Amino acid sequence: MKTLLSVLVFSFGIAASVMAGMPVNAECPISGKPIRLIFRSKYKDQVIAFCCADCKDKFDKSPSSYASHVKVAAKQP
Ligand SMILES: [Zn+2]
Repeated sequence: MKTLLSVLVFSFGIAASVMAGMPVNAECPISGKPIRLIFRSKYKDQVIAFCCADCKDKFDKSPSSYASHVKVAAKQP
């Protein structure tokens, strides 16, 4: 019973973080590596995440040239 409760709390936590601006992509648009959630930028109302601070810097300097590289990850059901 206790386990079920913590699973519910955990799922609720995920839902809350999605609303708090989770990135649309799972791969860094600059390097193609997996993203890390601490490196994020907002572009056209979308949150885009990067693998490292360098990639975020590159994107921030010219977002329009990298926006087409952003692969929007499939939404989880
Ligand atoms: Zn990077």
